[in-house]
Amino acid sequence: MIKLKSREEIEIMREAAQVVSRTLGVVAEHITPGVTPLQLDKIAEEYIRDQGAEPGFLGLYDFPNTLCTSVNEQVVHGIPNDKPLEEGDIISVDCGAVLNGYYGDHAYTFAIGEIKPEVRKLLDITLESLYLGIEQCKVGNRIGDIGYAIQHFTESHGYGVVRELVGHGLGKKMHEDPQVPNYGKRGRGKKLQEGIVLAIEPMINLGTHRIMQLNDGWTIVTADRKPSAHFEHDVAIVDGKPDILSTFDYVDKALAKNPAING
Ligand code: MG
Ligand code: MG
Repeated sequence: MIKLKSREEIEIMREAAQVVSRTLGVVAEHITPGVTPLQLDKIAEEYIRDQGAEPGFLGLYDFPNTLCTSVNEQVVHGIPNDKPLEEGDIISVDCGAVLNGYYGDHAYTFAIGEIKPEVRKLLDITLESLYLGIEQCKVGNRIGDIGYAIQHFTESHGYGVVRELVGHGLGKKMHEDPQVPNYGKRGRGKKLQEGIVLAIEPMINLGTHRIMQLNDGWTIVTADRKPSAHFEHDVAIVDGKPDILSTFDYVDKALAKNPAING
């Protein structure tokens, strides 16, 4: 059942989303060759708690950390480890927080220094596809319109759209109805209504759409081990239109000051 949110709840959820946005900004300041995902995880956990919030992923379904850190061919759900990031890597950092009983859930894929042009393009197109999906979040549309927009655009660049993992409703639970696939048909699926809040999160592979899970029981990798990108925003429908509750402004500012990150 889809739990629609009041204006008041949406404002509380904006605060939760912004906690995560600021946390990703702090993570962005620290992303450089040599830093380890585990170091980023500790920084994020401390920063979330400093803001009076709780990490949203830690302990959720028994996940062991604050961040999901997915490097290169890892798609999502990577467990932070102590392997230093290297120039040319990409890392998807997915972060959740709970504030006043509501979840924020938000992700960005960072480049470590100079990356291959084909991987840079994958990041750019995946980010663009997120906003194309968000544009479809309006009253009168359906869930399938979001997935269609993301799939049509990314597949036109020859990329693979992950099928098994999807976006989702967001609220007092991290994962609420409805599921929000990154593929679909126009005019199909559940109707989008005023007050719906969705986590929209394209997971787009440079090669095949097929994925596998590693033996750690969490990490998802591409079947062909080619790179994968992942960006996520929290979006409400307010006055019939998309209202993005999270923001990449903090990330963008941190990256602008940190040439080690995005070249
Ligand atoms: Mg997420
Ligand atoms: Mg999510």
